[in-house]
Amino acid sequence: MDIRCNKTNCKHNNHYACKAKEIHVAKNTDCQTYDRDFEKSSKNLQDVSKNMFEIAPEIGDFSHDDKLCVDCYANCIFNKNGKCNANGITVLENDKIGYCGTFMEE
Ligand code: SF4
Ligand code: SF4
Repeated sequence: MDIRCNKTNCKHNNHYACKAKEIHVAKNTDCQTYDRDFEKSSKNLQDVSKNMFEIAPEIGDFSHDDKLCVDCYANCIFNKNGKCNANGITVLENDKIGYCGTFMEE
């Protein structure tokens, strides 16, 4: 399971890859494991974008050990008994939190 995540100011985010051991996705698809890292300043985040879009892309390794678990409460076609069964998910961001962009209503 790979998680690509745009919520770059989260403690678990490393160059757009989620490095948490497990995440919890709520019924409304919010990532409840989001944990804001106040040391990731806006300057640092700009640097990440610069690396990503203007210089050589320095993107985190999205591969995860297979133990990564996504507990999910959303009514989604990838939800199998409360666990995400997708090969990978993309977490997008709104102004507050990250949410699962791979969600497809069942
Ligand atoms: S917001 Fe969620 S998916 Fe994104 S890095 Fe943080 S814990 Fe991982
Ligand atoms: S793809 Fe579906 S089952 Fe997987 S985390 Fe997202 S909403 Fe939950």
